[in-house]
This record gives sequence, structure tokens and C-alpha cells, in this order.
Amino acid sequence: MFKRFLNPFNLFLKDFSGMASDGSIIVHKNTKNPTKAWTELSLKQTVDKGMPLKPDTPITEDKLRVVCISDTHSKIEIHPEIVPDGDILIHAGDFTNVGLANEVKTFNDFLGTMKHPVKIVIAGNHDLTFDDDMVKNGRENLKKMFGVSEKGFEQLLVKYGVQNVKELMTNCVYLEDAGIDVCGVYIYGSPWQPRFCDWGFNLDRGLECLKKWNLIPENTDILVTHGPPIGHGDMCFDGFRAGCVELLSTIQKRVKPKYHIFGHIHEGYGVTTDGHTTYINASTCTLRYKPDHEPIVFDFPIPEGHVKDELLKITPQRLIRS
Ligand code: MN
Ligand code: MN
Repeated sequence: MFKRFLNPFNLFLKDFSGMASDGSIIVHKNTKNPTKAWTELSLKQTVDKGMPLKPDTPITEDKLRVVCISDTHSKIEIHPEIVPDGDILIHAGDFTNVGLANEVKTFNDFLGTMKHPVKIVIAGNHDLTFDDDMVKNGRENLKKMFGVSEKGFEQLLVKYGVQNVKELMTNCVYLEDAGIDVCGVYIYGSPWQPRFCDWGFNLDRGLECLKKWNLIPENTDILVTHGPPIGHGDMCFDGFRAGCVELLSTIQKRVKPKYHIFGHIHEGYGVTTDGHTTYINASTCTLRYKPDHEPIVFDFPIPEGHVKDELLKITPQRLIRS
């Protein structure tokens, strides 16, 4: 790593705007220290407060009403009435505490009671058992860290008659590094975030994360990830920023979605904009895991040639990139 910085040829390859001449995203030199990276990056851009739509604004035929929630941690099931009506309900991960099958079943049942014709869900780091590697190779870890004993884990699967917790997600479109076209609007979802302790869907900052962001197609209109990008909804209670630098570069330089929805940093709840993309930290739970933050809603104009009735053709499914 050190050698790379000494190599003068490398300096020519580095473009501090975050993009190489071939259009690919470059890992930022301070990616592992996001707070420091942001002091530099923030000089070149604006972050303004965004205005969420009032949840009781009438729903119209020419626009999709999108309702965003996240980080409900098995609590939204007790307060389903806080979720306003809409066409699409999006959940940006951490619907459980440790991903046990009973938590997943309860969440899926809650989704079943929601009237939104399309529900889109991704997993977060707390939904441990959705991380295939964790289930295959990290069972000791599951037990040590989270008290999810192998026997308890298996027993619950048997109880609900499934091999894998993902099979319990029967009332939504579950996205894992995959996307779906909804009335001509492309929605893409990914559960990964920069490493935090030993939770699920963790990757090292920098190249490891960027490899996942490189999978996001350029026609994405609404991007859903569990973690925030650097600079938007990522300020932790202790003043540090937890967002991913390469996620912001990917959004601003390559994908340019209209909306980016995420959660993970509960205290970063709210809406911001960089002038093109609107960033929504939809964390429903507060820092203290109380489900006190209201769902955030917006309207997305239905592209020409599409009609709202197409929503009804979208069936629950699991779209998982292998
Ligand atoms: Mn959370
Ligand atoms: Mn999280």
C-alpha cells in the first residue's frame, strides 16, 4: 500500500475528482478515514436540506407515491399505523435485530398487512442470517457475538418449514445486488456497508465496497442501500462520519440516480440534496432504537408510456445476484 504512493506513475493515474479517464471510479486516498475525506470533498460540493412531501398530500395518477422506512428493528410491527399509504413501500434494511426466523416471519406478516401494491426490501447488517457467508462460515461468530445458537437458528427454520430465512420474505420484492423495473422506474438495492464490528454484509472500505457499487446499473432511478454515502445522513452522534466515500463517488460521477434511500446511521435521519440526487436517510428507529422517526415520502413522476396499473403486475419475488 505504502509503495503505491511512492510510485510516481500512480500519481498520474490518480484523479482526485474520483473518476479515471475511462469513467471508472477511483478509490479515494482517505477512504479509510471518511471524516477526513469529507473535509476535502465537502469543499467541492453543496449539501442542502431537502423538503420531504407531507404524508397526507393527495396521491395522483401520474406519479408514484414512494414511502420510505428503514431500521425498524422488529418495532414497526407494533406501530404499523405510522406508515402512510402509497404505491411503493421501500425498506432499506435492518428490519430485525439479529435476523432470527421468527423476527423475519413477523416482519413479513407486517408487510402483508400494508396496502402498498409494491413493497421493496433490502437487508442490513442486523439481518445477519440474510448474509449467506455468515450463515455458511460464521456460525461460531453468530453464537459468540449475537447469541444466535446454531440449534436455535435451525429449529426456527424447521418450525417455519424453510431452508433459508429469505424464503420467509413472501410479501415483498427482496433485492440483493439486483434491481427491478417498476412502471418504467428502475429501483436497485444492495445490503452492503463498510465494516462495523462483525455484523452482516460488511466489507472493507475502499475497493471491496467499490466492487459492489460497480454493479449498480447506470439507468438506476432510485438506489437503495443500507448504509449512507459520505456527507449525507451519515453523521454519527460522536461527530464522526460513517458514510462510504466510493458510494458517493459512484452516485455523483457515474449512476446519478434521482433518489438514494438508506438508513443504518439512525441519528442521520432526514433528507438532503446535492442539487441532482435527493438523499433520504429513512431510519425509523432513533439512536436508542425507539421507532419515533416518521416514514419519509416522495412522488416520482411516471415516465411516458407507463401507467400506474403496471404496479399490480409486480409479484413478490427474491432477486439475488449470485
Ligand atoms: Mn439499524
Ligand atoms: Mn445497520
